[in-house]
Amino acid sequence: MQKLVYERPYIKKLTAGVMNKFGSRSGGKPFEYIDNVSVKSLIASYGSPLFVLSEKQIRRNYRAAYRAFSTRYPKVQFAWSYKTNYLNAVCNIFHQEGSWAEVVSGFEYQKALGNGVPGNKIIFNGPGKTADELLLAIENDSLIHIDHLEELNQLIILAEGKPNKPRVGIRVNMDTGIYPIWDRFGFNYESGDAWAAILKVINSGKLQLAGLHCHIGTYVQVTGAYGIAAAKMASLALRCKAELQHTIAYLDMGGGFPSTNTLKGSYLPGTDTMPTIDDFAEEITGILTKAGFAHDELPLLILESGRVLIDDAGYLLGTVIANKRLSEGKRATIVDFGVNVLFTSFWYEHQISPAQEFTPNIENMVVYGPLCMNIDVIRESINLPLLNPGDNVVVHKVGAYNMTQWMQFITLRPAVVLIDEQQQVHLIKAKETLDYIERDEHVPGHLK
Ligand SMILES: *Cc1c(COP(=O)(O)O)cnc(C)c1O
Repeated sequence: MQKLVYERPYIKKLTAGVMNKFGSRSGGKPFEYIDNVSVKSLIASYGSPLFVLSEKQIRRNYRAAYRAFSTRYPKVQFAWSYKTNYLNAVCNIFHQEGSWAEVVSGFEYQKALGNGVPGNKIIFNGPGKTADELLLAIENDSLIHIDHLEELNQLIILAEGKPNKPRVGIRVNMDTGIYPIWDRFGFNYESGDAWAAILKVINSGKLQLAGLHCHIGTYVQVTGAYGIAAAKMASLALRCKAELQHTIAYLDMGGGFPSTNTLKGSYLPGTDTMPTIDDFAEEITGILTKAGFAHDELPLLILESGRVLIDDAGYLLGTVIANKRLSEGKRATIVDFGVNVLFTSFWYEHQISPAQEFTPNIENMVVYGPLCMNIDVIRESINLPLLNPGDNVVVHKVGAYNMTQWMQFITLRPAVVLIDEQQQVHLIKAKETLDYIERDEHVPGHLK
């Protein structure tokens, strides 16, 4: 009989719920319910992994944001940023709350129409609109935000002979102290390009300059940047009035407010450091109300917030597949969802909670997804109790961008459910199937 090779035992001191620098224990309680619906029952009914959205939290976020601006400024309009999460159920919650639609492609434009948004309440942004898409937007009287000179020239041609003058806005980029400047979109303020574009629109006589638009970045963590942006936007609008006798009907300040997720490499958690929506509202409306507009000519203030309105309303539920020790001794846990469905794990340190009772032993570990790819790391370093195969976990604050940027890669994309305000669960997107993936594939005869 062959003798087994001796294997040195791996010995590591386990710490029970270490204090962090704020004195609280990092272990905490298991996260077993979302809006009173049990995580285990959701997985039992819809499988794992599974995205879960809370309608209650989405509406709460929207109302808090609307209140923050509308209590400080007389004319406020939100437009839901479709690319943040364009599941129709989600868009319709925002439309029910009064949001217009903000779209950045012909595909998203069609989705907004399909959701019943009137054409004149669709804002069409982005650098890649085709002539056909522009024509449709003109016919529907949508707000077209011009990104570059080619588009401006094309619009002037397309407007020829149209019964209604296309309503357009100029996208303005500028130095707000946030770097790198997003100067790839729109016309620059400091160089005078934005003013030149305004002159060109007005002098064309073919387009109606309804508003000015900016979107200075995403996950902007300083309110002051919005103050600078609002001041520059207001100065352009006031100059239009003074020099061209033209009234700008609206200023669209875009989106970009951060959620409370923690960015990779941050020293403090996002919940402790991010300004609130009220802080941003105070900054923007404070500047606009003092900018020098006649009282009856205050422009409508449009906001295109995405992330901040939905990130914390989304959860990803998953299941532990296995544990292993890496060669240097670090513990690794493999879960059943990868970076292909959790795109934001590339820049957030997502909070992950066990969904059942756990031991008080906390260990630092790496959490891997199931993909056969080295980049499939959900968390490089996280303190978690020891999890067993079959245990469930909940990833927090995943409502923004994951359900639009997810990739069909190696595995099928999971289902999405919505918990409504009465705590009823609705399947709003079924899990992908092999049939669906292969539906539009064609194998040439000689390869069959
Ligand atoms: C993506 C985008 C938004 C939404 O941005 P958030 O950072 O999610 O708030 C708004 N406006 C435009 C033009 C966008 O491209």
